[in-house]
Amino acid sequence: MTSAPDPLVTPLARHLAERITRDGPISVADYIDVCLQHPEHGYYRRQAAIGAAADFVTAPEISQVFGELIGLWCAVVWQQMGAPASLRLIELGPGRGTLMRDALRAARLVPAFRAALRVELVETNETLQQMQREALRNEDVPIAWGAKLTAADGPAIVIANEFLDTLPADQFVRRKAAWHMRCVGLDASGDLQFVDGPEAEADIPASLPAPSEGAIYEHRRTAFARLAEALTALGTPLAGLFIDYGHTEPNYGDTLQAILAHRYTDPLQTPGQADLTLQVDFTAFAHAVEAAGLRCDGPLPQAEFLGRLGAVERASRLMAANPARAAEIESGIARLLAPTGMGARFQVLGIRSVDVSPLPPFS
Ligand code: SAH
Repeated sequence: MTSAPDPLVTPLARHLAERITRDGPISVADYIDVCLQHPEHGYYRRQAAIGAAADFVTAPEISQVFGELIGLWCAVVWQQMGAPASLRLIELGPGRGTLMRDALRAARLVPAFRAALRVELVETNETLQQMQREALRNEDVPIAWGAKLTAADGPAIVIANEFLDTLPADQFVRRKAAWHMRCVGLDASGDLQFVDGPEAEADIPASLPAPSEGAIYEHRRTAFARLAEALTALGTPLAGLFIDYGHTEPNYGDTLQAILAHRYTDPLQTPGQADLTLQVDFTAFAHAVEAAGLRCDGPLPQAEFLGRLGAVERASRLMAANPARAAEIESGIARLLAPTGMGARFQVLGIRSVDVSPLPPFS
C-alpha cells in the first residue's frame, strides 16, 4: 500500500533528509545556506520572493521615497569623496531593482554624479536579475550583474537593504555547563528537527550575563568576517549603508524565522519554499567591519535616518504634485517611519574607509 504524498515535503526536505541520514545532523548555518542558496531548490535561487504578491514586502516596495533619499545620500557622499570622475555604485541583493531605479531617478538632480556612476548589482537569484533588468531597462548608466563582490581600486559606494538578514548564522544551545552547536537532524519518523550537536565554543560577548540551561546564542561571525573582507577589497575611498531589521544590544535568544506568503511558518517545515532570516546583530557586524580595517557610523533607527534625510518633506512634495496618490504616499512613508514598526525595528549602519570623513546623517 502506498500512502498519499505529504504536501509539506519539499524536494529540499528530501535532499536534506538523505544528507543527514548519510552524514549526520548539519549546523543551522548549513541548513540556512542550503534552504536559501541550493542551486536548484534554494529559496533565493528559485522564486521572486519580494513584493505585495510574494512572501514579504520591503521598504523600497513600500515607498519610492526610500530609494530616492538613498540616491541623494549617495550623491552627497560622492561629493564628500571629492567628486571622483568614476564611481562604482554597488547594491547587494537588489530584489526587484526598485531601490536602484528610484535612486537613479533622484540622481538626475546631480548630473555630474549620475555621469560618474558605474552600477553593479550583486544578485544570486536569476528571476530577480531578470526583474532588475526590466526595472532598469531605460537607464542610461552602465549596469553590470554578478553573483559576488569583485575586488577593485575604489572609489565605491555599497548599498544593502535586507541583505545581512539572509546571511547564515550559527546557533548554540546551553546544556549543563557547556555550549553545543544547535543542529538540524531527523526525528524517529524521518522529519527534520533541531538536535544538540557537538560541544563548541559559542564565544559570547563579555557583556552578557551567565547563560541559563537551554539558552540559545546565535552569531554570524563567519559570514560577517567574509563580507567585511570583501568590502575592504573594494578599495578606497569606500562608503556604504547596511539597512536591516535587528538589534544593537547582543543577547540570548533564537530569532530564526520563516515566512511563507506573508505568514510565519515553522523554519523546518518547508525548506526552500519559505524565506529564512535571523535578526541582524549590528554590534557584531560593526565589529567585523572594524576588524577588517574600516570605520562605522551609527547605527541609527530607520525612522531617525530617513527623518534626518528629509523623508517627511520629500513625501509632502510628492503628495502635492500627485494629489490622486496622496493617501498612498502618506501611508507608505508612515509605515517606513512607524515608531512601533519598521521605523524602530530597522537599523541603518554607515561604513567607510579610513580616508572618508564621517558620513551624513549619522554625525
Ligand atoms: N534589497 C531588496 C531585496 C531584499 S531580499 C529590497 O529591499 O527589496 C534579499 C535579496 O538578496 C534578494 O534580492 C536575494 O535574491 C538576494 N540574495 C540573497 N542571498 C544572496 C547572496 N548570497 N548574494 C547575493 N544576493 C543574495
